[in-house]
Amino acid sequence: MKYLFTLFTFILSIQIAGIELFELRGNPIQGGILVGRVHDTVKKVFFNYNEIPISENKFLIAFDRDEKQNHIITVVLENGEMESVKFFIIKQEYDTQIIDTIPKKFIEKPEDINLINRIECESDTLKETRKKIYENNNIYFKDFTIPVENGKVTGIFGSNRILNGIPVSPHNGLDIAAPVGTEIKAMSTGTVALTGDYFYNGKFVLIDHGFGLSSIYIHMSTICVEKGDYVICGDKIGEVGSTGRSTGNHLHWGISWNGKRIDPELILDSNRIFMVRELVIDQASSIPSRKRLGY
Ligand SMILES: [Zn+2]
Repeated sequence: MKYLFTLFTFILSIQIAGIELFELRGNPIQGGILVGRVHDTVKKVFFNYNEIPISENKFLIAFDRDEKQNHIITVVLENGEMESVKFFIIKQEYDTQIIDTIPKKFIEKPEDINLINRIECESDTLKETRKKIYENNNIYFKDFTIPVENGKVTGIFGSNRILNGIPVSPHNGLDIAAPVGTEIKAMSTGTVALTGDYFYNGKFVLIDHGFGLSSIYIHMSTICVEKGDYVICGDKIGEVGSTGRSTGNHLHWGISWNGKRIDPELILDSNRIFMVRELVIDQASSIPSRKRLGY
C-alpha cells in the first residue's frame, strides 16, 4: 500500500576543506524531486552523467514513477576537479484504481478517421511543446501551492488503473474534486506554454516553470490565460470542470520534469526545501505529505 511509507527530507552534501560545494535536499523517492544548491566554485553538475542546468546556484533533479534506485551526482569545479556522490531512492508501491463509469468513446480505440487525426494532432502538439520546455534552462519557480484549495483528493499519483475493465496506463497526476467553477491556481511561477480543448484532456493549461519542470491542469470548464502569459504562483488560470475524459467535476493536476512523471504531493512537500538554505529540518518534515492534504 502506498500509504505505509513515511516520506522524509534528506540532506546530502559534499564538503572540501570546510567549503560546502554542494547540497541536495528533498524526497529521494520515485516521483519525488530534489533541489540542489552549489557553491560559486562549482561550474557544472551532472546527474547520472547528464549535465543539469544551474541557475542562481540552484539545480533540480527528479525521479520518474518507475525510476531506478541507484543514482550519482557529479560536480565539476572551476579548477577542473570533480567530486561525485552516489545515493539511493526509495521504491514506491502503487495501488490499483478501478473506474467503471468512463464513457465508451474514451476507452475504445476510435474508428472515426477525423477523430483519429484529431487525437494524433493533439498528441503531437503536446509532445512538441514539452520538448521546448525541456530545452528551457531558465528558472521561474520559487515555491509551490496547491492549485485547488478545499477540494477532495479522488485519485493519487502512480495508481495502476483499470477503466471499464481494461488496464490502461498508470495515473500520472493528482485528482482533486471540487464544484464546477472552483478557482484553479498556477502551482508556481512560469509561462503558459499551451492551452487547448483536447479530446482526452478537455480544456487544459500547460505551464513551463523552467529547468525542464512543467505542470498541466486538465478537465477545466474555463481557461483564464493564454499561451505566452507569465503567471505568478497562485494566479488564477482557470476553473474546475469535467471536460474531456472525465467522470465528474475535478482537476487533474500533473507535473513532469524532462519527461519524468512527478508526484504533485511530493512537490508541495518541497516548499520548505526551496525556501531556505539555512533551514533546520524540523519534525514537520517527516510528516507524510498526504496528511497535510487532509485525507
Ligand atoms: Zn486524473
